[in-house]
Amino acid sequence: MFIKQNYNSITDSIPDKVELVAVSKTKPLADIMDAYDHGHRAFGENKVQEMVQKHEELPKDIEWHMIGHLQRNKVKYMAPFVHLIHGVDSLKTLIEINKQAIKHDRTINCLLQVRIAREETKFGLTEEELREVLNSDIFKSLSNIKIKGLMGMASFSEDMDQVRSEFTYLSSLYRSLLAEHSEWDTLSMGMSGDYDLAIECGSTLIRVGSALFGARNYLA
Ligand SMILES: *Cc1c(COP(=O)(O)O)cnc(C)c1O
Repeated sequence: MFIKQNYNSITDSIPDKVELVAVSKTKPLADIMDAYDHGHRAFGENKVQEMVQKHEELPKDIEWHMIGHLQRNKVKYMAPFVHLIHGVDSLKTLIEINKQAIKHDRTINCLLQVRIAREETKFGLTEEELREVLNSDIFKSLSNIKIKGLMGMASFSEDMDQVRSEFTYLSSLYRSLLAEHSEWDTLSMGMSGDYDLAIECGSTLIRVGSALFGARNYLA
């Protein structure tokens, strides 16, 4: 179900410069079409196969955001159409995205994912690894990718002080790198439970799923 009321209150409450990506993973096409008919165009998925299928079935002016962890061998399937890949966390993956982008004669927008959560299970680069990637000659030679900024996921925690400190850290890292990367315009952080806080800390893009479409049922 698409919860129009929540959608309207979120879009009314966030600043104009903050983009809302509606996270539609596990949700049926009908839910996406309800949001689409309400005027929304940016949707996020975390599995390549699911995103490819939905892209095939749905209107072609939808902007598809890949927000999940990437397997390099699946990049080729979304390369023709993906709007922004959020979870890039290695030079190897960037090289593969660049190769596939060249094949399709396009430039693919990417965010570099930084590990900010305490949990070991969360993906992403450390600050040191991030700087290594950005300063490497190989990275600089990749002609068909465009880095738009950074992405992060805070700890899954009720402790909002912890979440705030992780968002603040990522935001200050983003701003310090903006000095050398003035073309960046995206800091992707914040989900259903913490997007207000993320925006307060400097997010420019929030990824909201359950608040818009209801809780996910992974067994369905
Ligand atoms: C699922 C997911 C979201 C959305 O989560 P909600 O809590 O349902 O808003 C945001 N970002 C990423 C990376 C996700 O995997």
